[in-house]
Amino acid sequence: MFSPWAVYESAWDISEDFLKKNGIKALLLDIDNTLSVHCGGTPFLEVTGWLERMKAAGIKVILVSNNHAPRIKPFAEKLDLPYVTDAKKPLPFGYIKALFEIGVKKREAAAIGDQIFTDIIGANLAGIRSIFVFPKVPETSLPFRFKRALEKPLLPSRRRIGGR
Ligand SMILES: [Mg+2]
Repeated sequence: MFSPWAVYESAWDISEDFLKKNGIKALLLDIDNTLSVHCGGTPFLEVTGWLERMKAAGIKVILVSNNHAPRIKPFAEKLDLPYVTDAKKPLPFGYIKALFEIGVKKREAAAIGDQIFTDIIGANLAGIRSIFVFPKVPETSLPFRFKRALEKPLLPSRRRIGGR
């Protein structure tokens, strides 16, 4: 339940070959601390090129965030991607809605995110393969630091990074 199916340092380390080898045709992507800083308007530098590679390889991508439309919509439009807001991860419904929107079956998808308690548990509950990526910029707010402290003993080892 707490354990991701695969582990990578960052989303953009995931190759189209790895996805194809595992029959993955679509990615359900977290945003905050996965593609940008928490609530940041600009994706990390590596993101655009990686998304272009995914597109060229025929991998569908949809953003699935617990954050709200005013934050997510402009970000998604910048990347020209479909999105689900207020996903309420770890509840599985946001992921299910995303799959429905892009017309992909559970077994053809993987969900990527930086939080065990939302992204990974949510994907595992939905029956979708989960890929953990390490959070990019540590949050400074007290509630988030508390959450991260609770999560710490459950974090996968960096030795797990890479293919399956
Ligand atoms: Mg996140």
